[in-house]
Amino acid sequence: MRIESDDVLIVIDVQNDFCPGGALEVPRGDEVIAPILCIAPRFRHTVLTEDWHPANHISFAASHPGKKPFETIALAYGPQTLWPLHCVQGTAGADFHPRLHLPQAELILRKGFRPQIDSYSAFFENDRATPTGLAGYLRERGLTRVFFAGLAYDFCVGYSALDARRLGFPAVILRDACRAIDLNGSVAAMEAEFVKAGVAVIETAQILDVAARENAEEGIRQGLADAESGRIRSAKSFFDEFENGHGTPR
Ligand SMILES: [Zn+2]
Repeated sequence: MRIESDDVLIVIDVQNDFCPGGALEVPRGDEVIAPILCIAPRFRHTVLTEDWHPANHISFAASHPGKKPFETIALAYGPQTLWPLHCVQGTAGADFHPRLHLPQAELILRKGFRPQIDSYSAFFENDRATPTGLAGYLRERGLTRVFFAGLAYDFCVGYSALDARRLGFPAVILRDACRAIDLNGSVAAMEAEFVKAGVAVIETAQILDVAARENAEEGIRQGLADAESGRIRSAKSFFDEFENGHGTPR
């Protein structure tokens, strides 16, 4: 798959709390960083998102007496999984992982900052109606196709990709640049939704292979051009030497 100038890479929630040792660690979550750093230079536009909760956030089990993390409760906007305290605004857990070095990112979008509603998707809060503003940003900037990487594949990455499709953006997930929580079959359920919504799931190699082939083709073109001009030079030197009567032409 070839990356175009109006494609954007959206890196979802690669924050300390979602990485090993964090409050809500995604298994092997930090393994997304290497493929993300490898693929990001192929994109002209990069956006980062941050889960960014107040300490009394409704998604925290601690906000509901008697409830434990990973239980589900019914809220006005639908079922809500309860999580351990994570990504609290201004804490080290909410910081990006220190190895996620993407200074070229053009936007850092924060979500989940309203105390009474959670936000998995980068586009909408969990009521699927309150916008984060990302769709407007992408449209104003003329960015049309969105590629997703980060954490977690079966939650924030997945819901972001589904909402992208709902909003009319072609959406591609870079599977090897994501890691999943896989809570109660959430990966299989999310992948069934991807098929219905038309979310493409690919490996970063499918982009890097194209880039490598293009580089190789460019190298061959350049090599041929060099050889061509080299031949002309040697022919010229042949005649120069011949004209000047110097020894055996090379
Ligand atoms: Zn959260």
